[in-house]
Amino acid sequence: GRREPVLLADILGNSLELVEARARESGIVPAVEFPAPDLAVLGDGPRLEQVLVNLLQNALDAVGDAPAPRVTVTVADLGERISVAVADNGPGIPETSRAQIFDAFFTTKADGLGLGLAIARGIVEDCGGHLTVSAGEAGGSVFRMELARAAVPA
Ligand code: ADP
Ligand code: MG
Repeated sequence: GRREPVLLADILGNSLELVEARARESGIVPAVEFPAPDLAVLGDGPRLEQVLVNLLQNALDAVGDAPAPRVTVTVADLGERISVAVADNGPGIPETSRAQIFDAFFTTKADGLGLGLAIARGIVEDCGGHLTVSAGEAGGSVFRMELARAAVPA
């Protein structure tokens, strides 16, 4: 796939805009933590936006029944690499399905397709990065994509 410098502020802004109406309906304003306004990664902008939308939609699905739903996007500057984490305070991922969630057609949702994470991981790896999941500190899940840092485009 394409690997061009992509401004994180742009893909984050666009993907948040795409899920904003749905988030508002659930009373959620995703929190965004940015260490610096002008960070860029190497990748395919529109496809990375699709990854973020998938992760945000899963996070919104997951916090559906939480009493105080929270979705947080955190960008971290790792030097050579930059990570973008989407965290939620939903139920988390049971040990029994942790190995399968990135498999195509694995879903635990009545109306799920089970393609979001498989596609997301493929896109991120195509950009030379990694997409991983871990348990959140206070329950919930954290999906983190790590990509190569790029010089900020002019
Ligand atoms: P779908 O959303 O259509 O089910 P995905 O590939 O996006 O397909 O996700 C696969 C499965 O991974 C989900 O059905 C769910 O069981 C689990 N999952 C994904 N994201 C989360 C999350 N943030 N919290 C809890 N479980 C999740
Ligand atoms: Mg999904």
